[in-house]
Amino acid sequence: FDRFKERLSKTRTAISDGLTGLFKGGRKIDQELLDELEELLYTSDLGPLAGELTEDLARLHKRGELKGEEDVRQAMRAKLLAKLEGSGGGDPVMTAKPTIILVVGVNGSGKTTSIAKLAHRFQSQGKKVILGAGDTFRAAAADQLQIWAERNGADIVRQHKDNADPAAIAFDTCSAAIARGMDVAIIDTAGRLHTQSNLMQELDKVRRVIDKKIPGAPHETWLVIDGTNGQNAIRQAKEFTAAVDVTGLIVAKLDGTARGGAVFAIKDELGLPIRYIGTGESLELLEAFEPEPFVDAIVS
Ligand code: GDP
Repeated sequence: FDRFKERLSKTRTAISDGLTGLFKGGRKIDQELLDELEELLYTSDLGPLAGELTEDLARLHKRGELKGEEDVRQAMRAKLLAKLEGSGGGDPVMTAKPTIILVVGVNGSGKTTSIAKLAHRFQSQGKKVILGAGDTFRAAAADQLQIWAERNGADIVRQHKDNADPAAIAFDTCSAAIARGMDVAIIDTAGRLHTQSNLMQELDKVRRVIDKKIPGAPHETWLVIDGTNGQNAIRQAKEFTAAVDVTGLIVAKLDGTARGGAVFAIKDELGLPIRYIGTGESLELLEAFEPEPFVDAIVS
């Protein structure tokens, strides 16, 4: 838990230490203090929730239920936890063999890194993992994935030319996963933004081809979101969820930002389970998302 706190320390400093700062010099709770708290929550990217939370606190204060800093902290903790109810994630139950996981998201969100981390995670659980380098739009993405795969001893299916057919790679990955008795196949996809409708059509085709090869697959489709990008990332995410049947989220880069409050806005606005959060660049820094330790790490 301490490591987790440490990885989220920027958001923790903004919210938890920020709250301590508000009460400095023995300040009492008043509207001015609550306004400052709202501002603080807003800059941590809680979005509309910042206003909602402080209004709740104002109401509690009026009723005489908030005496000081500790009460405010407890009330915030309870409210934030309630906001994340039902959003816990972690590993899916993998009854299918192979279990096919499709990973989508815009370039730069942390998609390739997250795939490598997932491969590492599943491998360390003793599963046999194969990767599909389906981001054929960027040869560099396939190269990066291959480096990860070689370092991890995971299998990879890729093509060596630009603009290869991503659906063909997805198909080949599924075939190889079956032939080689793999437990999990994780398939990367393109994430370019400038031709959004093409991208969504391409993702749909990839999905259909996978389903044709293995009926009912992909078993999971996870969207990677850049946690430092707050409201902007949510807007982009909505384009994906409108076009693809996303079953879970990975929020990357939460270590590098004071804006980790975005997690609440993400859950609120997308209504999907957050499976994992990325808390660093190295392989083991992918945490199964659990509301309670997360909230504790940033407010308590
Ligand atoms: P992609 O374009 O979506 O595939 O993104 P990449 O996986 O290449 O990641 C983009 C950048 O973000 C790289 O420099 C990664 O090292 C970095 N990155 C990815 N995930 C994390 C994370 O959880 N924490 C930090 N600090 N950096 C990350």
